[in-house]
Amino acid sequence: MDLKQYVTTVENYPKEGISFKDITTIMDNGAAYKYATDQIVNYAKELGAEIVVGPEARGFIIGCPVAYALEIGFAPVRKPGKLPREVISADYGLEYGTDTLTMHKDAIKPGQKVLICDDLLATGGTVEATVRLVEQLGGQVVGCAFLIELTELDGRAKLGNLDVKTLIQY
Ligand code: 5GP
Repeated sequence: MDLKQYVTTVENYPKEGISFKDITTIMDNGAAYKYATDQIVNYAKELGAEIVVGPEARGFIIGCPVAYALEIGFAPVRKPGKLPREVISADYGLEYGTDTLTMHKDAIKPGQKVLICDDLLATGGTVEATVRLVEQLGGQVVGCAFLIELTELDGRAKLGNLDVKTLIQY
């Protein structure tokens, strides 16, 4: 299946000059959403992933069906103040300023094999901060999967030798 035909490009969203990739037109098509999920499920099987981790909010949309299909767990990465128990935090740089992501301190067991899922890899800042959180908890990131990669931004460079799979490239 050519998944790219289901992505909608929205110009000047969320601000002037940004060409936003809208994945909701993949999700609202049952066959396309299942096809995309199945590709990542196969990748997760090859890697022997034992838990899926995804940053809010679109990382949940990609990661949760993968975890469900594999009958493994899902651990959410959230903005500060959203998780109810003790958390660890990681800061990452934005174009202007910084942002913070958090995870529950007991979300990952030491040595657990983790697949990180998100909708889109741009600069790699979000996933790099997510990798730091997982590693701080003693988890082993075995791979990172995204629906879309914006190749010009070279987010892969931030991920060193980590295994990265993307289904659609621009
Ligand atoms: P990065 O941290 O790699 O620069 O940006 C990736 C994060 O920003 C992802 O969590 C993703 O959800 C969000 N993001 C950035 N640009 C887009 C876009 O064009 N479309 C979508 N769907 N998400 C984006």
